[in-house]
Amino acid sequence: MTKPILTVSNLQVSFHTHKSEVQAVRGVGFSLYKGETLAIVGESGSGKSVTAKTIMRLLPKHNTKITQGEILYEDKNLLNLSVREMQAIRGSEISMVFQDPMTSLNPTMKIGKQIMEGLKKHHNITKKEAKQRAIEMLRLVGIPNPEGRIDAYPHQFSGGMRQRVVIAMALACNPKVLIADEPTTALDVTIQAQILDLMRDLQQKTGTAIILITHDLGVVANMADRVAVMYAGEIVEMGTVDEIFYHSQHPYTLGLIKSMPKLHAAKTDALIPIPGTPPDLAHLGTGCPFAARCPYTMKVCHYFSPKQTTLSDNHTVACWLQDQRTPENMALELVGGKS
Ligand code: SF4
Repeated sequence: MTKPILTVSNLQVSFHTHKSEVQAVRGVGFSLYKGETLAIVGESGSGKSVTAKTIMRLLPKHNTKITQGEILYEDKNLLNLSVREMQAIRGSEISMVFQDPMTSLNPTMKIGKQIMEGLKKHHNITKKEAKQRAIEMLRLVGIPNPEGRIDAYPHQFSGGMRQRVVIAMALACNPKVLIADEPTTALDVTIQAQILDLMRDLQQKTGTAIILITHDLGVVANMADRVAVMYAGEIVEMGTVDEIFYHSQHPYTLGLIKSMPKLHAAKTDALIPIPGTPPDLAHLGTGCPFAARCPYTMKVCHYFSPKQTTLSDNHTVACWLQDQRTPENMALELVGGKS
C-alpha cells in the first residue's frame, strides 16, 4: 500500500485563556497521500484551521498547548522539530494559502521580489534563476504579462489576481503538501471557479497533495477526493467524496448536506439549516457533542462519546447509530438501567 506523505494521529490542541481552557482540536487523525485532495469541512470554530495551523506550527506559543499527538511528515514528527528545522520545511515542502491574500503578501514589496525571496531561502540559486522561476510561476497561475507585472506591488492587483500571486508563491518551491485554508471564500463566484481550476491543474502537473479547508460543500464536491467532516474539534465522519455526499451516516454530515444550496432547486425548496449552535469548547460535557442538535439522540449519546466505527476502507464515522454494540441496550446497561 502507498505510504502517506503526511499522517496526523490523535492530535489534541487547546488554548488557554485566563479563565478557561478551550479544547479546540480533540483527537484528530488522518493520512494524506501524494496527488490527492483531502477536504476538511465544518462550521466555523470546528477546529479545521487550528488543525492546519498546528501542522504548519503557526499557532501562538504563549497560549497554545499541544497536549497529545503526532504529525509525521516523511518519518519526522513535525511537533518535535526545532524552529529552524521547521522553517526549512515551511514554504518549501509544506506551503499554506490563506483566505486573505494580504496575510501572505507584504504590501510594501514588489511581488516578484517576494516570490524570489522564498526561492532563494530554500534553494541555492542565483538572483537571475530566481527571477526566471518567479516569472514562470506567475505565467503558470495566469498572470498576464508576467515579465512586466513582476515589479508591481500587491495593491496593483485585483483580489483574484492577488490570490493567484499567493498560489504562485506557495507553489514556487514545488511543495509536496499545500494547505489551502478557505482560499476562495473572499472571491466572487467566477473568480472562485478560476482559482479552483488553477489549483486542480497545478496539482495534476506537480502531484502536490492538497488539504483544502472550507465550509463550502460545493467546493468540496468539485475538488476533493476524500472528505473529513469536523465538529466540535473532532473528525465525526471521513470518507471518499461519494461516500460523504451519497452515503453519509453521521447526522451532522446529513444536516450539512441538507443545508447546501442545490443548483437546480425550485424556488420553493427552502434550505434546511441545522438547528442550534455548536457547543462551547471551554465547557464540554460528557457524551456526543452533537447531542443537543441531533434529531436521533439516544440516551447513550448524553453519557458516552461515540467511538470511530469503520464502515469501509475509507469511510469512518463517530456515531452511536453506527456502533455495532446496539446503543439502546448498551445505554441501559452502562447507565445502570435508568429508563
Ligand atoms: Fe446523534 Fe447520538 Fe450519533 Fe451523536 S452519537 S450524532 S447524538 S445519534
